[in-house]
Amino acid sequence: MHAAISIPSELLPHDGRFGSGPSKVSERQLEALRAAQPGILGTSHRQAPVKDLVGDIRAMLTDFFSLPEGYEVVLGNGGSSLFWDAAAYSLVERRAQHCVHGEFGSKFAAATLGAPHLESSSVRQADAGSIALPEAEDGVDVYAWAHNETSTGALAPVSRVRGAGDALMVVDGTSAAGGTHLDASQVDAYYFAPQKSFASDGGLWFALMSPAAVTRVDRIAAGSRYIPAILSLQDAIVNSRQNQTVNTPALATLVMMRAQLAWLLDNGGMAFAASRTADSAARLYGWAEASSYAEPFVSNTTYRSPVVGTVDLAAHVDSSAVREVLRAHGVVDVDPYRKLGRNQLRVGMFPSVEPEDVSRLTSAIDHIVREMSTRA
Ligand SMILES: *Cc1c(COP(=O)(O)O)cnc(C)c1O
Repeated sequence: MHAAISIPSELLPHDGRFGSGPSKVSERQLEALRAAQPGILGTSHRQAPVKDLVGDIRAMLTDFFSLPEGYEVVLGNGGSSLFWDAAAYSLVERRAQHCVHGEFGSKFAAATLGAPHLESSSVRQADAGSIALPEAEDGVDVYAWAHNETSTGALAPVSRVRGAGDALMVVDGTSAAGGTHLDASQVDAYYFAPQKSFASDGGLWFALMSPAAVTRVDRIAAGSRYIPAILSLQDAIVNSRQNQTVNTPALATLVMMRAQLAWLLDNGGMAFAASRTADSAARLYGWAEASSYAEPFVSNTTYRSPVVGTVDLAAHVDSSAVREVLRAHGVVDVDPYRKLGRNQLRVGMFPSVEPEDVSRLTSAIDHIVREMSTRA
């Protein structure tokens, strides 16, 4: 019955992709792919054309994040999830502290808790929709948290833990990177993947690493710990310095990533990206606050994410029914995180999303809810 609801075209977003990753890919990126055939696609990743592509991306990320002197852009295969295990083997010396307030933070915690060579991790927990903050603790040599907890839409501050000595700050920037502000001097390893703000495909990880992080990696590698080759950040660093990866990367993913970085940098870089997502977020949260049936899930306004917005719906408005109608109109992936289990919508607002399309999305939702109530 609900699928029969029709949304007038003037209320529909021009592009209906609001996923939290993979996220909307632009036409510019497809044109870049076309231009990479045959010069780059289908050619060796050990030769100049692909190495230059990787070199461009490393230089553009250095520029985008205004990396402090000595920081390096490292990359490898396996996505952000692989980086959790790589960090457990190559970055954590003895004990990590994790802040957990959602699914992604808990996955990294599970990686160090399960590592046989590490002491039991310290875990600071907060409810979904809120934020746990790191705190100096004796014996901890890595502090870990997610900049943006994609499962809940909560954005955490990224600044060095006071009194942490020479412990490293290892921050999951997967969904925040490229879509909001970061002061890279506050982190030692800030890792992410290309399928969120960089609008490319998944499968790779990138890490912005400080000199202290590189020193730590080298020290651990020189010791007696067994490190599986694919989890060796030392191997990744050595290869990255030559604009290569340990094993074969997805070339199309790199091509699309470079095109997105070019677009972001041409328009003003981080400030541009952050203002786009802030505009989108103001539209989404402003609508939810004014709505009689919706409200932002993250109650503390300073923790509301500009890149992944979560909105709770009143019990009488069934999120899955709303999403069914949206999907029938090509508006997709506003599903809540599967394990959160709330009557909620989650909206990816990465820089490629037009802020105007977020306004249209909210108009379309209002239309659906109106139609549902007249038919109930
Ligand atoms: C998407 C996401 C991940 C997982 O990234 P993969 O590349 O799929 O491994 C990890 N952390 C956060 C915060 C994410 O948003």
